[in-house]
Amino acid sequence: MLQYPDLEKHLKYHFGYDHFRPGQREIIEDALANRDLMVIMPTGGGKSLCFQLPALLKQGLTVVVSPLIALMQDQVEALRNNNIPATFLNSSLNTYQVRTREEAIMNGKIKLLYVAPERLISDRFLPLLDVVKEKIGIANFAIDEAHCVSEWGHDFRPEYRQLMLLKRRFPQVSTIALTATATDRVKADIIRQLGLKDPAVHLASFNRQNLYYEVKTKSKRPYNDLLEIVREHQGSGIIYCLTRKKVDELTFKLQNDKISALPYHAGLSDDERSKNQTRFIRDDVRIMVATIAFGMGINKPDVRFVVHYDLPKNLESYYQESGLAGRDGEPSRCTLFLNYGDVKTIEFIIGQKPDPQEQLIAKQQLRQVIDYAEGTDCRRTIQLGYFGERFPGNCGNCDNCLYPKPVQDCTIDAMKFLSCVARCKERYGISYIIDVLRGAKNQKIILNRHDQLSTYGIGKEKSVDEWRLLGRSLLHQGLLEQTADGYSVLKLNALSWEVMRKQRTVSIAVPVVQKTNWDENNSSKAAEAEILNYRLRSLRKQIADEQNVPPYMIFQDSTLKLMAQMQPKTLEEFGELSGVGSHKLSQYGERFLAEIQDYVKDKNSQIPANYQLNYSSVEFPTDTEITTFELYKQGFSIEEIARDRHLKPSTIVNHIENLIEKNQPIDLNNLIPLERQKKIWQILEVLGDIPLTPIRENLGESFTYEEIRLVKARWKRDKKKA
Ligand code: ADP
Ligand code: ZN
Repeated sequence: MLQYPDLEKHLKYHFGYDHFRPGQREIIEDALANRDLMVIMPTGGGKSLCFQLPALLKQGLTVVVSPLIALMQDQVEALRNNNIPATFLNSSLNTYQVRTREEAIMNGKIKLLYVAPERLISDRFLPLLDVVKEKIGIANFAIDEAHCVSEWGHDFRPEYRQLMLLKRRFPQVSTIALTATATDRVKADIIRQLGLKDPAVHLASFNRQNLYYEVKTKSKRPYNDLLEIVREHQGSGIIYCLTRKKVDELTFKLQNDKISALPYHAGLSDDERSKNQTRFIRDDVRIMVATIAFGMGINKPDVRFVVHYDLPKNLESYYQESGLAGRDGEPSRCTLFLNYGDVKTIEFIIGQKPDPQEQLIAKQQLRQVIDYAEGTDCRRTIQLGYFGERFPGNCGNCDNCLYPKPVQDCTIDAMKFLSCVARCKERYGISYIIDVLRGAKNQKIILNRHDQLSTYGIGKEKSVDEWRLLGRSLLHQGLLEQTADGYSVLKLNALSWEVMRKQRTVSIAVPVVQKTNWDENNSSKAAEAEILNYRLRSLRKQIADEQNVPPYMIFQDSTLKLMAQMQPKTLEEFGELSGVGSHKLSQYGERFLAEIQDYVKDKNSQIPANYQLNYSSVEFPTDTEITTFELYKQGFSIEEIARDRHLKPSTIVNHIENLIEKNQPIDLNNLIPLERQKKIWQILEVLGDIPLTPIRENLGESFTYEEIRLVKARWKRDKKKA
């Protein structure tokens, strides 16, 4: 029975979505019933909506605590794009801005306030919150990234600890804590530290159904394999490498192959890093080549593929890093390259660690990664098993399930292996057991007198690798266990005994060389829709640039795809597409409809040759920018250039902005009166590099976004040179 039958209607109206993701409805219902909540969902699961929708349906202000300024700004921007009154308070604002925003809150004009923890619990802010509570009410506290309260999490922040103040001061206000960290220890810590009262705990599955997992054994020419993957996709991708040097080399190679790529690693300046990251988020550049330091704080839902060109540190990092793909729920691909040369390098690095305990753990973690990579069972079964979640296999969306290797009955060998574990009293790891099976004459075996065992030497006919494969498969299938103390000691369980008693047969997959075929759109019908999709993407990028926001904030990939498939003819039809809410319908409906109509009229239209230019090359002006530049040099105004080129003035502004950034000689005095430039410049000096909307708030309506954008581009370039 539905408690709140209209929730879907509100979801559609405000956010444009037709359905809730798993768990969202239940969580929202609990929030509406004023329960304290502990929400654990994987990245991309849709946590934000769980407090955003209740915020709109409840009386009063919802206060969202968030640790990162960039994420805060992103979320507020995305909400505003849906016409939802939201704002943030953090250290990037000046006193004047803070006061304006606080006034808006006091006047009940804001539904969601994002705030940094240290500001929230400050002596200045808490009394203000008291007044808010009296005057308009507080609907909820939402604590995002709640694992930050826990020293056991991976991102402890002391200022989160003080959030327990909130429950004491506002005992009647319910709290929603949200995190993607699943361990029991962290969970218990969050509940205790935040003082949650009898919280409803929602633990979503960590299975990310839309992600395709695959492993490729690095061939002699791994770069070619990588290039193939990059070329099979049109959307954004991340490629992880182990070292800075490799990042730089790979970026260079890709750029040479005309792939729009930029590097990201600790060797770059802060400024360069954040610039590259922004270009990636805004789809100015398609590929980010990065060391593993990249990505955790970024909000880009439309990453279509993540490649680990080198092995990840451990399975948990692999899950999180590959999980950056497909946060919007669209099909996306996660590829891991396995190279035994890398293993040697990593083992060497581990050997350099001073602490032997640390070495041991690192070695075990590496072993698990290799097991995953070599594994022949469903990738999800292995990954989720690592988080303690049982997954039955047959996911239909990993290489091992789609291209299963031939299966072989190996009950007899499994019995030999398991009884050898038993004879050795469950005190050794896999290598030792294999040595015994193969009758190795190593000293340890002789000393332990294990050469006297009946299982000694009964497995000579199989190679070490073959035995390893069997042992690991037994582990993955749960027919054998191993300790997690760093020693990986093999232990028998009830199922192992069933095998030894011949009550259960065992089969394992035999690895073969395989060729995975990844094609986002391989049918010819899809190919046609793809042409329209190109055009819609270009339009989206253009609108995004006009507003200075990332393209995904205009419409998500899935919504563009629906437009291309359904080809709506009226605004009404357009409004029915998933992802089109009331506000976006009124803002962008006409323009997208017009693009679709144009396409239909001109069915023979080709993929625009300059589509790839959406991803501009990094240093040099693109062809279209150069054309604009030529006209500018001849003394034409922006309006005139736009008319001449049949482009929108905002597009021309965008060209000029890029030209400035790329150090081309543009004299702003030809475009904007000096007095106005000065005013904008002054504001930038005070406020720094913040989004355009607040800058314009300060300058007043008489200033256009175009003027601000141009001066800002100039200002940024000068800052960089200084
Ligand atoms: P998380 O914080 O859990 O990583 P987000 O809240 O950022 O995830 O949501 C991930 C993406 O999923 C966002 O782009 C969001 O707009 C989208 N999303 C959330 N809920 C839904 C839904 N019910 N239907 C479609 N898309 C959704
Ligand atoms: Zn599978």
